[in-house]
Amino acid sequence: MISRCARRAFDSDERHPATAKAVGGGSLLALAPGKGITAHRESGATLQTYAALSKPQDWFAAIDFMDGWASRRGSFVHDVVIVGAGPVGLFLACELGLAGCSVLVLEREPEPGSPWKADPLGMRGLSAASVEAFYRRGMLQPLLKASGVNDYPGADEPAPPRGVGHFAGMMLDPAKVDVTALPFRLPGPATEGVMTHLEAVESVLSERASMLGVEVRRGVTVSAIAQDDQIVVAHAGEHEYPARWVVGCDGGRSAVRGLAGFDFVGTEPQFTGYVVLATIADPAKLRPGFNLTPTGMYLRTPAKGYLGMLEFDGGAFDRSQRPTREHLQAVLRRVSGTGVTLSEVHLASSFTDRAMQTTTYRRGRVLLAGDAAHIHSRLGAQGLNLGIGDAMNLGWKLAATVRGYAPDGLLDTYTREQHPIGAWVLDWTRAQAAAMKPDPHAQAVQGVIRDLIGTHDGTTYVFEKVSGSSVRHDLGGEQPLVGRNAPDLRLEDGTRLGDLMRDGRGVALDFSTDRCLRGSAMGWEGRMRYAAGAARNDLGLGAVLVRPDGIVAWAGDRAPDREAFERAAGHWFGSPAI
Ligand SMILES: Cc1cc2nc3c(=O)[nH]c(=O)nc-3n(C[C@H](O)[C@H](O)[C@H](O)COP(=O)(O)OP(=O)(O)OC[C@H]3O[C@@H](n4cnc5c(N)ncnc54)[C@H](O)[C@@H]3O)c2cc1C
Repeated sequence: MISRCARRAFDSDERHPATAKAVGGGSLLALAPGKGITAHRESGATLQTYAALSKPQDWFAAIDFMDGWASRRGSFVHDVVIVGAGPVGLFLACELGLAGCSVLVLEREPEPGSPWKADPLGMRGLSAASVEAFYRRGMLQPLLKASGVNDYPGADEPAPPRGVGHFAGMMLDPAKVDVTALPFRLPGPATEGVMTHLEAVESVLSERASMLGVEVRRGVTVSAIAQDDQIVVAHAGEHEYPARWVVGCDGGRSAVRGLAGFDFVGTEPQFTGYVVLATIADPAKLRPGFNLTPTGMYLRTPAKGYLGMLEFDGGAFDRSQRPTREHLQAVLRRVSGTGVTLSEVHLASSFTDRAMQTTTYRRGRVLLAGDAAHIHSRLGAQGLNLGIGDAMNLGWKLAATVRGYAPDGLLDTYTREQHPIGAWVLDWTRAQAAAMKPDPHAQAVQGVIRDLIGTHDGTTYVFEKVSGSSVRHDLGGEQPLVGRNAPDLRLEDGTRLGDLMRDGRGVALDFSTDRCLRGSAMGWEGRMRYAAGAARNDLGLGAVLVRPDGIVAWAGDRAPDREAFERAAGHWFGSPAI
């Protein structure tokens, strides 16, 4: 029998209005008019989809297959098993849960909390693009609240950015950003980055994942992966977790990456960096902020006792050892050129600028996202932002594949689109490492960079890079908005694009006076939302098709071409249902 709680979860799923029929054993068939059949199984308080079928004759074969597999293995076959409940794994889990997939997250750590995730050591800068991803899924306010941000800028006025950050430790002046050079940056509730910490990010995502029926199983360390054409199994000790897909979101030392045979290539380190929380006997000896010195760099943050430092030793410090107080003090004295004393070290870790990336993000039924797919130094604060971008890009594509309506090759566009962005981030951090080296050549480069970032064009260039607004996937065609993150377009009635994206579907915005795309958009109703009306600022366009990840798939002029719209919709969302 389907429990009342699970039934309610199903009935309230406004994306998939359906008639449902219990078939015993906790299973349920859902008939969605025009969208085929989905087979569900009860799991705790939620219903998990385990087959999305377009042809009715396939239902029972699929159920037999899944039940047979599960009974042979004694376990349920999930659509997706995600390895790692870090921010990227959790974000991806939310995306897949939102799209109706059954998702199990396996996490090594028995507990979610850690001093490395709390303020100040867990402090992370989220770019405007990442904040916008939270906004588009209705998680902006929970994120701001959990991060303790009370003064996030309002939505209606176009405002210059409040912060740009630094390049190689050289601070940028936000007043130098030329906003007129950013025509696609419209006012909206999420145009600024946010300073948060991992605990806040993970708690917001965990709560949302749980509401979406995702199960996070802790204390499970994945140690083997086996896959064939139809199934992939993650092994943890004696336990097996079968799924149709496995995604490794298990961080920079990813086990999944090695177990599934991904090639990981890149460059070796030039420096060792340290993050330290300490009691400093004489803090006045250290200047606040970033300090490039003739021997390296140190950072004294506003948080008491929280320091960062880099020493160009070729990455020689052995990460298998814990850095001692004596070692850290010696490094700090060398790079700061002071006799500063660390009386006590509370927490410390080391890192390098080793920059590596897998050559592809997919091998068969195994995919990678976040630090599992790319590692680089922390210079420029990009790793988390890159990982959230991976999760947004992958989530809807994998969900469409699981649910059976993905057009051919959709899943492979994940590597095609995200790999070049990862490669760019690696280069961005390499450029900073090269400019920070304590030698005359690098110091000459620093002089040139200081001159460039002293100009409006130079600062605007860096702002576009670090805010995520320069990202443009090559989707073909000349239209300058296509392939970019969509601006937060707004209809006259006040509806914003971001509001329309909460349920994870694509969006067709039709500004034409005769609503010419209405009929066409109906064909993709379950996968795309249609909204029409005059726009407050239409950027000279008549219509826009936005993918679930916020990327503009197609844009039409004042008299939108219906056929071109239908071609683009079919290309990204598959064959129309009607
Ligand atoms: C000091 C510091 C400052 C930083 N600042 C910024 C910043 O300001 N902005 C920014 O964008 N980025 C920043 N980064 C980088 C950012 O924190 C990472 O890129 C991001 O956390 C990666 O997330 P992830 O989910 O991919 O991996 P992780 O956060 O590493 O999560 C991986 C998860 O997988 C689990 N796991 C590992 N192996 C297994 C296994 N075999 N089985 C099951 N579970 C497993 C781990 O326990 C972990 O929970 C910073 C990093 C550091 C260290």
